[in-house]
Amino acid sequence: MGIYYTDVLIIGAGAVGVALARELSRFAIEIMVVDRLNDVGGDASKSNSAIIHTGFDAPPNSLESTTVVRANPMFDKLCSDLDIPFRRVGAVLAAITEEEEKELPKIMARARANHIYDVNYLTASQVHKIEPSINPKVRAGLFIPGESIVDPFLLVVALAENAADNGVTFLTDCEVVDLKISKGGFRAESTRGDIKARFVVNAAGLAADQVSAFLGIKDFNVHPRRGQFQVIDRAAPLEVKHIILPVPTLISKGKLIAPTVHGNWLIGPTAEELEDPSSHNTTREGLEEIIAEARKLVPAIDPVWTISQYAGLRPVRTPGGYHLRTFTKLPGYLELSGIRSTGITASLSVARIAVQKLSEMGNPSKPKINYIEKRTGIPCFRDSNNRRKEKFIRRNPLYGHVLCRCETVTEAEVVQAIHRNPGARDLDGIKRRVRAGLGRCQAGFCGMQIPQILSRELGVSMEKISKKGSGSEMFIGKTKSLRKKR
Ligand SMILES: Cc1cc2nc3c(=O)[nH]c(=O)nc-3n(C[C@H](O)[C@H](O)[C@H](O)COP(=O)(O)OP(=O)(O)OC[C@H]3O[C@@H](n4cnc5c(N)ncnc54)[C@H](O)[C@@H]3O)c2cc1C
Repeated sequence: MGIYYTDVLIIGAGAVGVALARELSRFAIEIMVVDRLNDVGGDASKSNSAIIHTGFDAPPNSLESTTVVRANPMFDKLCSDLDIPFRRVGAVLAAITEEEEKELPKIMARARANHIYDVNYLTASQVHKIEPSINPKVRAGLFIPGESIVDPFLLVVALAENAADNGVTFLTDCEVVDLKISKGGFRAESTRGDIKARFVVNAAGLAADQVSAFLGIKDFNVHPRRGQFQVIDRAAPLEVKHIILPVPTLISKGKLIAPTVHGNWLIGPTAEELEDPSSHNTTREGLEEIIAEARKLVPAIDPVWTISQYAGLRPVRTPGGYHLRTFTKLPGYLELSGIRSTGITASLSVARIAVQKLSEMGNPSKPKINYIEKRTGIPCFRDSNNRRKEKFIRRNPLYGHVLCRCETVTEAEVVQAIHRNPGARDLDGIKRRVRAGLGRCQAGFCGMQIPQILSRELGVSMEKISKKGSGSEMFIGKTKSLRKKR
């Protein structure tokens, strides 16, 4: 294990860490992002509702509302620059009961307090005109045009690739296990060796309290609030085109129905206070609760349309709220904590504030002359017309081999996902980048071919190929060789 040197060390390659890395890569400095998982975006940033919020319902005058409201308009240009899908679908907030209807003026006032002025009241018939499948008992609603959808997997991957193009180093499978002040900055002890850095940014999400504790900051803690989801097949006879939101209660925002940029729908999430930060499992009760609640909004929803389930953990900070903190006694250390339920959206403006704070602590802000603003995505076979498909196959015959039949993903796309920087190293990494395995059969077919391609392209044995990093290896050896050994 060697020792690494960098100007800025970012701990955590979630949406917040990679958005900051990209923003900092505009400057002529060395940046290193480390993550204990074997890919970027492997924790909360991959398991959420995939909504780019307007901030209409955020707590007014909070850092959360400021950063979310500021970030939302940045997404059109960002997603175009990064070549990823983004859709301004808008949201319908539906009041089904009389009590819920009474809440609408309060929600409207909150939106105005957050400077979101384009939220409109809807009568019951207007709600039905916009979304005919909403519960016929609906009494009224609100329309929030700026609520939008993105692919959060791809957002993080694309931000990271663009940052890497601009010189950022990514070290995965690299857990920071201690952090100390050392001459000229900090020394992080990690599972891949020591890292010396002038500046350290804690973007560790659920583990932000542990990282700050290494430096003696023990005034807060973070616990997981689990959110379970169900994914609906895009072939389901569901007509929902907008995000459908319930009226929030004091305890929770409730369960929503949202289209995805890939043509599926998400329903959920639950809100369960837990202690174990590894509780990424779904539960029978949680999944049943989602269906029951979603049916209050859209009665036609049928659990047989579900093709997958997942759960994400919101990093809930106590004391609460977003915290972007520097410390007089620790010059060079920046802690980004409490970025809980809206962090995919807020990551862009959090990154800008973080750059400012680092610069105030002396981080050089000399712009890089050859900064690369744009990233090109992996050309997608499925979304191309026949002429383009032919062209792809002529240029690269691997485009002629469809591996994932549900999502029509070709071998060429899988190979490119492996050779990008940071590239896919396992089945989930491929899934996040090119959607192979995300369709109706959930990798039942391509799940056998992709490991062989990973093994071939990475030059490692099949036994080393995993679903999602160390501990999830898929093979233990060849069947007949095992029989011989016995
Ligand atoms: C159910 C649910 C629904 C949500 N819906 C939305 C939504 O619709 N829109 C929205 O904007 N936001 C949403 N969010 C919130 C959003 O997902 C989070 O705010 C955001 O992902 C936080 O990003 P992050 O980078 O701070 O944390 P993470 O993505 O968790 O990244 C932190 C990273 O730090 C790494 N790490 C931790 N400790 C160490 C260590 N010691 N060494 C190295 N690496 C370490 C972890 O492995 C992890 O990858 C939702 C969240 C959940 C759970």
